[in-house]
Amino acid sequence: MNTKSNFKVIIIGCGIAGASLAYFLAARGMRDILILEREDQPGYHATGRSAAVLVELDLVPSILHLKLLGGRFLRNPPPGFSGNPLLEESGILITFQGPLWEQVSEMVPDLRQSGVVVDLLSQEETVSMIPVLSPENFDGAVLLPKDGHIDVNELLWSYLRHAKRQGAKLRCKEEVRDIKTDQGRCRGVVTSRGEYSSRWVINAAGAWGGRIRGLLGYSPVQLTAHRRTIITFAAPEGLAVSKWPLVADLSHDLYFSPESAGLMASPMDEDPMEPCDVRPDELMVAQTIERLKQLTPRLVFKSITNKWAGLRTFAPDQVMVVGEDPEVKGFFWLSGQGGAGIETSSAVGQIASELILDGRTKLIDAQIISPARFTA
Ligand SMILES: Cc1cc2nc3c(=O)[nH]c(=O)nc-3n(C[C@H](O)[C@H](O)[C@H](O)COP(=O)(O)OP(=O)(O)OC[C@H]3O[C@@H](n4cnc5c(N)ncnc54)[C@H](O)[C@@H]3O)c2cc1C
Repeated sequence: MNTKSNFKVIIIGCGIAGASLAYFLAARGMRDILILEREDQPGYHATGRSAAVLVELDLVPSILHLKLLGGRFLRNPPPGFSGNPLLEESGILITFQGPLWEQVSEMVPDLRQSGVVVDLLSQEETVSMIPVLSPENFDGAVLLPKDGHIDVNELLWSYLRHAKRQGAKLRCKEEVRDIKTDQGRCRGVVTSRGEYSSRWVINAAGAWGGRIRGLLGYSPVQLTAHRRTIITFAAPEGLAVSKWPLVADLSHDLYFSPESAGLMASPMDEDPMEPCDVRPDELMVAQTIERLKQLTPRLVFKSITNKWAGLRTFAPDQVMVVGEDPEVKGFFWLSGQGGAGIETSSAVGQIASELILDGRTKLIDAQIISPARFTA
């Protein structure tokens, strides 16, 4: 085992958040980076369980801004960043009903102004594209033909490969159990295997972010993890689904999309949970089937081929928490990625690296994402 115990930055957690920060810090020349991951592989929790799509539409302006920045990186990563394309422009189709449809329709000119390719579809146009939908369930749809599936494995490992090449160290099966402080400043961590000192300790622990800050006393940020369930199943015979976009019905909480040889679907559940290695809830699986029956009866299947669940972790205002802790110097939040942590990872990783190295960023108003917003 490497016996080095002094680092500039220790990142707790090797999901997409920790990996992207390591990448951007290393790209700026930082060499002394240690990533600590409790599981035996990176990406075991939320990162490895997501639907992994880029959707450049969001009612929260700061999240939309981060998605747009993330989309640019996914389409045009730096030369040599990845071996395979990061984004498959398989498309996203979202149906809306009532006032939400009006609200979203009004956002379209601004989206186009930002460079997003977006079409508004009537009920007829939508049904001719996805014949299993019924027009009585929605007023219209937004099609984002240039968005779609992210190769999350490629993205995660590309961040890590480059960071490691620049000297960053990754240690799996090593859990952070305590944080060392001295005179109100972070000095390092105590793990299941030893002790390390560092100038910065980064909270990229996903659903465990609140517990990590709890090691230092009462947390100024309340993070809540919410379970989300996904099932996969065979597509009905005679229905060509492989070229479908991901279809989301926000009025009835259901999305489905081609996945491997068949389809996947989620009931968009949001049950709050204690952080854990979450499993799918049978009630949610049954609810997915029920919603498919009601909204797209032609998709009802004989058996489920796979099912899983993951945790999406949110701050109270649903915006990410990125920045130095208002009370403990050297403790840096990279948490609360919610349901957009993959698509925004390059933007958030770069912003975090700039805040750490330069103390400022031009990519976003840092106050909006700062943990200090909860103590002001
Ligand atoms: C079903 C589902 C669908 C989703 N769909 C999308 C989508 O389409 N697009 C999108 O962008 N996002 C999506 N997301 C959200 C996305 O997956 C998350 O925002 C993102 O993965 C969060 O990354 P993270 O690195 O913060 O957390 P994680 O991936 O959970 O990583 C945190 C890591 O910290 C480690 N850790 C915790 N405590 C300790 C400790 N004490 N010591 C050492 N290590 C520790 C954990 O083991 C874990 O590996 C989805 C999520 C789910 C569950």
